[in-house]
Amino acid sequence: MSRRRQIYEGKAKILYEGPEPGTLIQYFKDDATAFNAQKKGTISGKGVLNNRISEHVFTLLANIGVPTHFIKRLNMREQLIRQVEIVPIEVVVRNVAAGSLSTRLGIEEGTQLPRTLIEYYYKDDALGDPLITEEHIACFGWASQEEMHDIADMAIRVNDFMSGLFAGIGIRLVDFKLEFGRIWDGEFSRIILADEISPDGCRLWDIATNEKLDKDRFRRDLGGEVEAYQEVARRLGLLPEGLENDVLDLESHRKKRGK
Ligand code: UDP
Repeated sequence: MSRRRQIYEGKAKILYEGPEPGTLIQYFKDDATAFNAQKKGTISGKGVLNNRISEHVFTLLANIGVPTHFIKRLNMREQLIRQVEIVPIEVVVRNVAAGSLSTRLGIEEGTQLPRTLIEYYYKDDALGDPLITEEHIACFGWASQEEMHDIADMAIRVNDFMSGLFAGIGIRLVDFKLEFGRIWDGEFSRIILADEISPDGCRLWDIATNEKLDKDRFRRDLGGEVEAYQEVARRLGLLPEGLENDVLDLESHRKKRGK
């Protein structure tokens, strides 16, 4: 695979130079990290599932007019994307209290929030991605007022759409993280959705049982990570019948057919 120039390696993905200027190849690894990379592991087959799930969600979002960096999926673990200048902010959208919100404010996990909450975190591993306000973003010039308006607007649209998408397959969208990027056209830039949308960056609970179908299985040592990700993919209609039992089978099956 890789004679290509590697641009960046993150915790769960690698970015390679793309075939044309302004494009990149995003490769999904099986590596998993939690608690600011203090906990590390491998979830065999996760990259394949996240590539597929993210492709699906980004395609549906593009259909409703949310601009994204996704161009097309290339193979089991790679997708072609537009190169963006990443805005150094993690945008977290919450519908139900969980994780750091519950810990920070003492709200019981699972409490429905009275309204959707948007939070911003400064993307800096060395600092542990601290919670910030729009005042910090304006003060340090991480994004303009206009860009923040577009970001918040898109985050709400993504939340509305995804809440419905997941509710339709019996999954509660508790919270999720988004990242945005700038693309330049001469001296003008605009904001588009970047990164990925997958169970790595979302909390997804089964509506009937509250079973966790996301990375909390890894964070909290619950086991069954890949099965949970597969279940999300299966409900989204992304796993061919009969092959859902082993995503690695799926990968080797495709490789044999040269796809
Ligand atoms: N999240 C993420 N990357 C991060 C931090 C959070 O994808 O670096 C996602 C996480 O999966 C969850 C949501 O953002 O769906 C809110 O996470 P939270 O602030 O509760 O932090 P956590 O409990 O994951 O440390």
